[in-house]
Amino acid sequence: MSTDVEVVVAAEAELGEGPVWDGRTNRLVWVDIMGPSIHQTDVRTGRTDSIAVPLHVGAVVPRALGGYVAALQDGFWVVGDGPSRRLTEVPNPGGKLRFNDGKCDPVGRFWAGTIAYDAAAGAASLYCLDTDETVTHVLDGITISNGLAWSRDGDTMFYIDSPTKRIDAFNFTLSTGAISDRRTVVDLSAGIGEPDGMTIDAEGGLWVAVWGAGAVHRYVFGRLDRVLKLPVSQPTSCAFGGTDLDELYVTSAWKGLSKSERNEQPLAGALFRVRPGVRGVAAHVYG
Ligand code: CA
Repeated sequence: MSTDVEVVVAAEAELGEGPVWDGRTNRLVWVDIMGPSIHQTDVRTGRTDSIAVPLHVGAVVPRALGGYVAALQDGFWVVGDGPSRRLTEVPNPGGKLRFNDGKCDPVGRFWAGTIAYDAAAGAASLYCLDTDETVTHVLDGITISNGLAWSRDGDTMFYIDSPTKRIDAFNFTLSTGAISDRRTVVDLSAGIGEPDGMTIDAEGGLWVAVWGAGAVHRYVFGRLDRVLKLPVSQPTSCAFGGTDLDELYVTSAWKGLSKSERNEQPLAGALFRVRPGVRGVAAHVYG
C-alpha cells in the first residue's frame, strides 16, 4: 500500500476544513472557514468551483432536497440551491462564537459544534439539526468542537473537543439521536498536537488529523495503528472519497503560522490525497 501524499489543490486556504465526498457529483466538497467559501473539487483535475457564503463557514453537508446545509457563523443555512437562506439560528451572545466542524449521522441529522473566536475554554457547544429542521443543544462546556464519526452499526458516536486531546465515544441511539455514557477511547496527550477532524473507515478504523503534528493517525480499538506524515504541520480534517471511497482527502491550514513557517511549508492550506489501502464509508446526507 502506498502512502505517497499527492497535492490535489495547492489552495493556500487559511483554514481549509470539513471535507466531505459528494456522491451525487463525485466531487470533494470542503470549506475555507475564513474565506469564507465552500469549495467543490473535481479530484481528477483539481478544478474547483467555489460558493461564496455570507458568514464564516464551519462545515457543510450534502442535502437530500438539493444543495447543501452549511453551519455558518450564526446557524444552519441552505446553500448552493438558489440564494443562501438561514434555516435556524443558534444562541450567540455578542457574536463571540462561530460554528466549527460538523457531520451528518446515519439517519441524516446534521451535528455541528462551535468555537469562541478567542477559543475561550468551555464557551462552545455541540448542536444537532434534526431532519425536521429543529435544533437541539446537545452539549455545553465545549472549547473547540471538532471531529465527529459514527460506527457502522450506528451504536457509537465518536467526538473530539480538541484541547482535551482525546477522542471520546458515546452510546448512540439511532432512532432518537440520544447520546449517553461518554468515555475516552483514545488519549493523545502524550504526543504533540491536538486531534482535529476525523473520519471512520469500513473496518472501523478512526482517521484523525492531528493539528500541529503534521500527521493523520489511524486508531483501531483505541490503539495507534498508522501515522501518515504530511508536508504541512496543520492538517485539519480528512474524509474518504473517490468513486470507490479508497482515497483519503486531507485539508490543511496556514492560520497562525509565522512568515518563516509559511516559507518552510509552501503547501500549508492545500488539499492532499493519500491512498491508504482501506476504504471509507459513504458520507451521510442531510435529511
Ligand atoms: Ca477543525
